[in-house]
Amino acid sequence: MDSLLKHMVDMTGHRDHTMLDISVISAVQELANAKQTRVLTLTTVKGQTFIRSRAIICAGKAARMEEQTDPASAGEALSSYTALAACIARHEASAEQVDAEGNHTLWLPIWLGDKCNTCLEIIDPTPYTPETIHIVGGIVSVYRNFQNLLDYSERDSLTGLLNRKTFDDQLAKMLAASSAEQDALALPPGEEERRHHSDQEKQWLAVVDVDHFKHVNDKFGHLYGDEVLILIANLLQSSFRAQDRVFRFGGEEFVVLLRSTTQENARRIIDRFRMNVETHEFPQVGKVTVSIGYVSISAYEAPVIILGHADQALYYAKSHGRNMICHYDELVSGGLLQAIESNDEAEFF
Ligand code: GH3
Ligand code: MG
Ligand code: MG
Repeated sequence: MDSLLKHMVDMTGHRDHTMLDISVISAVQELANAKQTRVLTLTTVKGQTFIRSRAIICAGKAARMEEQTDPASAGEALSSYTALAACIARHEASAEQVDAEGNHTLWLPIWLGDKCNTCLEIIDPTPYTPETIHIVGGIVSVYRNFQNLLDYSERDSLTGLLNRKTFDDQLAKMLAASSAEQDALALPPGEEERRHHSDQEKQWLAVVDVDHFKHVNDKFGHLYGDEVLILIANLLQSSFRAQDRVFRFGGEEFVVLLRSTTQENARRIIDRFRMNVETHEFPQVGKVTVSIGYVSISAYEAPVIILGHADQALYYAKSHGRNMICHYDELVSGGLLQAIESNDEAEFF
C-alpha cells in the first residue's frame, strides 16, 4: 500500500503530460509486476482509428518516451488488435488476450465521455489476478481525472484549442525535435550547398488573424462572433495534420506549428486552410476570410523573434488586401518587408 501511495504522489506531482505518462506506466509496471507496459495513443483519421505507442517500460529498465520514427504515419491500424478494437467499439473498460507464446495482454482504455484517445497496455506471461486488475483500474481512474485536469488547464475554453500558456513548451519541443533531426540528417561537407534550399524539411510557424472580425461582432453580435471563432477552430483542426499544433493566441488570433515539411508543402497546407475558410458558409454571417503570416522555425532564434517575423508577414498581408498568406523570408528576400520596416510613419506594431 505504501508503494501505491508513493506512486499516487508521484503521478499527481506533474504538470506535464509526458511526465504523467512516464510515472503512470512506472506505477502500473511495478504494481502489476509486468513484463512490459505501454501508453498508446489512439487517433482517428478519415474514420479509421490508428494506434501509436508513446511511452514504454520493460521489466528491469527505465520508462522512456517512444520517438515518432515516421511523423507522416498515423501508426498501426486498431483493427489489427482484435480484442482491443471490440472493446473500444463497445465502450468497455478493459480487454484481455493471450497470444501464441502464452503472453497475457491487458488493455485499459482511458474514456473521457464517449471518447478514447489513450489506452494502457500491460503484457505479462502470467494471468492477472482480480486484485491486480482492481489496483491497476484504480490507477487508471486517477490517471484519467488528472489528464482531464491537465487538458483543462492547457486548453482555451471557447474553442478547445491549446492556449497561449502551452505555446512556449510546445515550441521548445518542436525546436528540440528540429535540431535533433538536423543532426541526424547532417550531410558531409559540401553536400549541404548542393541540396536545393526549398527541398529541405523544416518546422514552420503560422500566425492566423480573422479579417475585419470587429465588423462581424458589430453587425451580428458577440454570440455570432463566438460561433465564427469556434467554426474557424474546427477548420484549423481539420485542415492541419495530427502532428501539427494549433493554438488560440487570444481574441481572433491563432498560431499553428507545422512539423517537418518542405517550403512548398507548408505553403500548400497553409493556403488550403485559407481557402477552406474562404469557401465556408458561416451560418447567418456568410463569408469570413483570414490573413496569415508564416516563417520557418530555427532552433537558433528566440520564440519572440520567430513570432515577430510571422507577425510582420501577417501585417504585410493585412495591408495588401487581406485573405492572403505571406512568407516572411520571401518578403524579405524580395525586398518587400524592408519597405515597411524602414517606413517610420507606418505604425504596424
Ligand atoms: P483586421 O482585419 O485588421 O484584423 O480587423 P479586425 O476587425 O479583425 O481587428 P481588430 O483587432 O480591430 O478587432 C478584433 C476584434 O475581435 C475586436 C474584439 O472585440 C473581437 N474579439 C476578441 N476576442 C473575442 C471573442 O472571444 N469573441 C468575440 N465575439 N469577439 C472577440
Ligand atoms: Mg482581425
Ligand atoms: Mg487581431
